[in-house]
Amino acid sequence: METMRIYDTTLRDGTQGENISFSADEKLTIARRLDDMGVHYVEGGWPGSNPRDMHFFDLAKRETFHNTRLAAFGATRRPGIAVEDDPNLQALIDSAAPAVAIFGKSWNLHVTQIMNNTPEENLAMIADTVHYLKSHGREVIYDAEHFFDGYREDERYALETLKAAAAAGADWIVLCDTNGGHMVYDVEAATARVKIFVEGLGTAQAPGLGIHTHNDGAMAVANAVVAVKAGARMVHGTINGYGERCGNADLTSIIPILKLKMGYDCITDANLARLKNLSRFVSETANQVPSSSRPFVGRSAFAHKGGIHVNAIMKNPRAYEHTSPDTVGNRRRVLISDLSGKSNVEYKARELGVALGGNGHDSRAIVARIKDLEERGYQFDVADGSFKILVEKFTEQFHPLFDLASFRVSIEKNKDQPCAAQATIKIAVGDTEEITAAEGQGPVSALDNALRKALGRFFPDLDGMRLVDFKVRVIDGREGTEARVRVLIESRDQDEVWSTIGVSEDIIEASWQALADSFHYKLAKAQKAHAAEKQQAAAG
Ligand SMILES: [Zn+2]
Repeated sequence: METMRIYDTTLRDGTQGENISFSADEKLTIARRLDDMGVHYVEGGWPGSNPRDMHFFDLAKRETFHNTRLAAFGATRRPGIAVEDDPNLQALIDSAAPAVAIFGKSWNLHVTQIMNNTPEENLAMIADTVHYLKSHGREVIYDAEHFFDGYREDERYALETLKAAAAAGADWIVLCDTNGGHMVYDVEAATARVKIFVEGLGTAQAPGLGIHTHNDGAMAVANAVVAVKAGARMVHGTINGYGERCGNADLTSIIPILKLKMGYDCITDANLARLKNLSRFVSETANQVPSSSRPFVGRSAFAHKGGIHVNAIMKNPRAYEHTSPDTVGNRRRVLISDLSGKSNVEYKARELGVALGGNGHDSRAIVARIKDLEERGYQFDVADGSFKILVEKFTEQFHPLFDLASFRVSIEKNKDQPCAAQATIKIAVGDTEEITAAEGQGPVSALDNALRKALGRFFPDLDGMRLVDFKVRVIDGREGTEARVRVLIESRDQDEVWSTIGVSEDIIEASWQALADSFHYKLAKAQKAHAAEKQQAAAG
């Protein structure tokens, strides 16, 4: 298998994305993680442009990377000065990064109109800079900025700029679709042409070709793929496609495509199986909600909803899956909704560990019940936790660990002070009754706190459980305030996230349903874990 170099620029180009920023320490943790994944190059930042990136490279000096070469990014020398006098280049050398990516201009429009430069001086800037960095022992990656635009408008000059970099000893020439609007057929043809041109230059060693694409025309990944087909051997991109405007080529798609579809060697199979985790780790660090529909690694990438599909994948997953979810560390999910048939319910019940009657009667009856509830606004494909409880209730396997006797919620508003909410709740656990009161930021939070406090006396396991998301949606807006609301709650503990749902004309009632399901789910889970521990202790 031929090796394809993966060049990650999440820490540099990725941070150009709106709302994406990393501290120097966060950059370091991401770099370590990429090193651990076997990514060949990690571009850490532009040390000449800001102190944070300078700080990152200082931190990185104390770090040993096992698989990754760290790259620093910068521009060619300024017009009219010597390389030694350019502080930007000095910062690149001082960064101590073994690889350096420098960008130069390939497009006449930028050279003359934007930079106010001459075409000749631009060529000299490229040659001098590459030469200087090579003389300092760096691996030089030359980013031909706006290459495809330049090639389209003045092919001869665009190729001249590449020649300047190659002749000065650049190790790589990377063709950049900086504005991100080029079409696959143009990128493929231009890359093939450049390959012949560079190999015909007669330099001691022809530089390798790389590709750097942006997603403005929705073709970043496709353009990287066709460039590889035309001879590129290094692919630039970012994790989750973060980047300026519409983003960069998404490495969480490119890596599996290179390996699984095109047969290139890039990272190991074992590391590929950690790709979903890497994607989540980076979105978590960037404080971004992970996109469910992201190919390969998204939560919905292998989710099946239609009954016919589910029936088919139970026979053979290839019927509706282009690749196996475990190769990238993802998993198949079956969604329960009114589109569902018996197969979905059976599959899902098995996934959640709930036993159904063997004759198919239970699952058919549950499907009918789900359809009925979904008519009223429930949505079980986004509420696994409530679905489990529903099935348990239906099959008489639901043994609640607490019962509600009553609750009262009050809200007080004084002038321009924020609302103060208070809840009192009375529950029964076995024969014991418990009454507690608590305050909260809003009625649901007060109710959650009161219930948690009441249950806490009986179940210490609740400590690790917390609410992470609370969503309210009006289901039918036509009836004004009489419309029903759907409340979705997402909760988590140390090892799991689960969702529960409630529907009612009253927002507090809907919230209570979702809240109660969430606690029932957690308590049942904790009880099961305790039983398993006891059994193990007895056996040991
Ligand atoms: Zn870029």
